[in-house]
Order: sequence, then C-alpha cells, then structure tokens
Amino acid sequence: MSSKIEIKLAPNSGFCFGVKRAIKLAREAAETNKQIVTLGPIIHNPQLVESFRERGVDSVNDLDQVTTQTVIIRSHGVDQDILEELKKKGVEIIDATCPYVAKAQELAKRLSNEGYPVVIMGDSNHPEVKGIRSYIDGEVFVIDNNDTLPDKIFPRLGLISQTTKSLEDFQQVASSLVPKAKELRIVNTICSATSVRQHATLLLARESDIMIVIGGFNSSNTKMLAKICHNIIETQHIETAVELQGEWFKGKHKIGMTAGASTPDWIIVNIYNEINKYTGSGSPYVSRIEEIPGYKE
Ligand code: SF4
Repeated sequence: MSSKIEIKLAPNSGFCFGVKRAIKLAREAAETNKQIVTLGPIIHNPQLVESFRERGVDSVNDLDQVTTQTVIIRSHGVDQDILEELKKKGVEIIDATCPYVAKAQELAKRLSNEGYPVVIMGDSNHPEVKGIRSYIDGEVFVIDNNDTLPDKIFPRLGLISQTTKSLEDFQQVASSLVPKAKELRIVNTICSATSVRQHATLLLARESDIMIVIGGFNSSNTKMLAKICHNIIETQHIETAVELQGEWFKGKHKIGMTAGASTPDWIIVNIYNEINKYTGSGSPYVSRIEEIPGYKE
C-alpha cells in the first residue's frame, strides 16, 4: 500500500475524567491489601477488569455476593436502595460515582421534589439510569429516542439524559416533548467529556474512509460513538487488536480511530500499531497514546 496512508485518532479518545478517577480510587484501594470488590465491573472494559482481578479487586454483580470489608461503587453510581443496604452491611464504601452522574442524580431528585414528572432519556437497563431513577419519588419515564409517553398533555414535565447519550438524540426527544407538556423543563445532563468526544469523532469520521471504534461492546458511550460513525462512513467496532482484519483497509487512505471513555490507552496504542502493520503506512511504532497523530487530551 502507498505511504500516503494516514491513521488519525480523534482528540479526547480514551479514559474520561470520571473513569480516571474511579480507576485511581480502585488502585489506591488495591494497595491497602484489604478485601475489596467492585459492585459491577469497575469500567466497561473486560481487559482492565481482569487486570484488577489479578490485583485482588474482584467484581460482583449483586449485594448477596458482597462479603468483603470494602466495596467500590463505580462511576455509574448505584441505586439508593443498594447504597442503604451496603450501609446496613457495615462495609466500607469507596464511592467512585462520577461527579457528573451524581449531579444528574441530584437534578432528578430536585425536579421530582418540585413536582415535575421526570423523563430520563436513556437505556432503562443501564446501571446509571437505574441509579438516577431511584432518586425520583414521583412519576418517572425512561425513554430512548424512539419511545413515546402516554397519550395525554402533562401540566409540567422535566427532561434529563443519561450522561453518555448524544446531544442530537436529546434535542430530538426534547422537541418531541414540546407538544406533550404545558411547561417543559429541560436540563442537559450529558457530560461535557461525552459531548466533546462525540463531536471530535464526528469531525474525524467526516474526513475518513473508515472508522475504527475501540471499546467494550457493552459500553454505552462506545456504542454511541459507533452509531455516530456508522451514520457517516464504514465503521468497525472492536475491543482489541486481535479483531482487526486486513481487508477492512484495502483501498482506504484515511483511517480514523476513536475510543470510548472506558478504553485503556494501551489498547488504543496496540491497535494503532497493528493498523500501521496492516496498511504498511510506514508510520513509526508508538509506545504512548500521546504519540498517535491527532491525539489531544
Ligand atoms: S463519561 Fe462522563 S459521566 Fe461518564 S464517567 Fe466519564 S466523565 Fe463521568
């Protein structure tokens, strides 16, 4: 292949502030040699979860499995009832709930206390959404951008979003609610890390022949990046370098890469180096994410 092949990473790819914070707290906890578990995987990345398991920080899926001294609450936050149960169990709680998620929980509670039925745009099964929902005492609807509310006019409605949803979908839902409520209060709870990353990905997808989206198949924000890219150009969503296929790059000159908020740097670096090999682009081997063209924190 020709040496004119360009491989670029979208700015702001990889770990976000909330994930970095959660990982830092989990690493510090691991060093204490206490018995520690995380409630659910610390982040949506199986490779990093495994590396924590090797350091003695296991992940459990429900409260009955919490038999350790210390529990880490991950960046998605948890349901209020679960938090209460943990307190009753008397375990030490390390709360790594992302401040943006905590803010969404607080806003949900405030809207509900002020008498607004609350609409959450998000995935009803996502742990972050379950957590936010638990802060609402009154009426609540969880919808994605294709759902609709009951067929009536509400005197008032509040609208918030799961933090990792797309601004475009949020705008769509907001305008679909205008005819449904006499008073509509919209609070944009999409986190800035998410909107900045999505915008950077969109711009790179527009100038690329193919996009490689890197991150857990169960990561909401990575799936959202893949959706944005799919709407523009051929896109492959992968978790690790072993999934790359040489034929994807045949005839492609501009290769774009982006990664979700829970994708470790070393996975992005590996994939960049492998794409270099597949394409014969002649770009130098890199050992740090900062060396990949396009990288910006
Ligand atoms: S994507 Fe946003 S809300 Fe989620 S952990 Fe990262 S910074 Fe926090």
